[in-house]
Amino acid sequence: MSFADLGLPGNILSVIEKIGYKAPTPIQEKAIPVALSGKDIIGAAQTGTGKTAAYALPTLARIGEARGKPRCLVLVPTRELAMQVDEAFRIFAENWSGKVALLYGGVRYDQQLKTLQDGAEIVVATPGRLIDLWKQRFVDLSGIEVLVLDEVDRMLDMGFIEDVSSIIRMCPKERQTLLFSATVNKTIREIADWALREPEEIDVRTGAITADTISHALYPVAGYQKYDLLLALLERTHYKSVIVFTRTKRDADRITEWLESNRIAVATMHADRTQRERTEALAGFKNGKFSVLVATDIASRGLDISGVSHVINYNVPEHPEDYVHRIGRTGRAGDEGEAFTLFSPDELLQLQAIERLIGKTIERKKLEGFNYRTEPLMLMPGNGVGAARPRRRNR
Ligand code: AMP
Repeated sequence: MSFADLGLPGNILSVIEKIGYKAPTPIQEKAIPVALSGKDIIGAAQTGTGKTAAYALPTLARIGEARGKPRCLVLVPTRELAMQVDEAFRIFAENWSGKVALLYGGVRYDQQLKTLQDGAEIVVATPGRLIDLWKQRFVDLSGIEVLVLDEVDRMLDMGFIEDVSSIIRMCPKERQTLLFSATVNKTIREIADWALREPEEIDVRTGAITADTISHALYPVAGYQKYDLLLALLERTHYKSVIVFTRTKRDADRITEWLESNRIAVATMHADRTQRERTEALAGFKNGKFSVLVATDIASRGLDISGVSHVINYNVPEHPEDYVHRIGRTGRAGDEGEAFTLFSPDELLQLQAIERLIGKTIERKKLEGFNYRTEPLMLMPGNGVGAARPRRRNR
């Protein structure tokens, strides 16, 4: 199957050729013809599957020449994803006369207002800032023809359900709606029931929830030795670049200080850092200035960073699906990746929930030569402890 078989027009095919995409990915193969026909879509697809192009290419083909008013709205959960989608649209829209506006919070309004006033046709936005600008009448959604809801599970997870519902209501009833989500649960179905019209369901999730190019290892250790073990792991691992995930912002800051005091240069990302700091951290990590990124789950989804060879979970994630998203930052596009998790005995319930979700036992390992002060708990799975209950998160 080639892109030309999907019904895309010549100007878009020439951009695809220039970018170097050889063949459509499964989500593109299934979603592009449906989106081109104008039908609504519920797409179950994880990040890294090529879903941005799956909605961006047919949308650009459908909205045709520019008219100077927003016609496509892409709603995404985080600023980082918004930037990534905006960049993808700019690349795909090379042969197109329209403009793209990128709207997210935490920064000044001027530049964003300017792109809107310049007549942007495509708006890529996070919910809060969009509502803010809409209330002040700076953005007109009355001409929206295509509404894309990206990473809906994540938006709901972050507490945006009211905002997302309001934004859907701000758009005209006559429109195409393309909904993408890594998981499609009951709440997402309820939204789809009232917001979408006879949607076509497309599911490209494979049976295996984690890529088989990733090897997993669990390092049991007493809580008080986690800092030392983290450092030892970093010192003994040949990594190209590594993301260290922490559960809280405070942990992220403390681990940053700890690694820096041990002469490891790191970039840090969490929700309390300013937008400029977050952008710089991500850019520095992507361009190789920093080979270690310490982050909360804010960096666990959506971000497309190539060449991450290792993910280290400083804590066992509280929500099992976060484990899948975190380790999905490595082993992308067929590359090999390794995921290490530091485990202390109080994290047993969370570990069991993860192993149930991914359907396998994570191999227990001891780091050779590390000075364990307490014998690590090399517990075996399935010792009869009940299901873990998700707790509130503090990103
Ligand atoms: P996404 O899931 O949209 O975040 O895309 C993940 C990565 O796959 C991005 O770096 C895209 O540029 C890349 N990509 C998307 N479609 C294709 C394709 N058909 N062939 C090769 N790479 C692709």
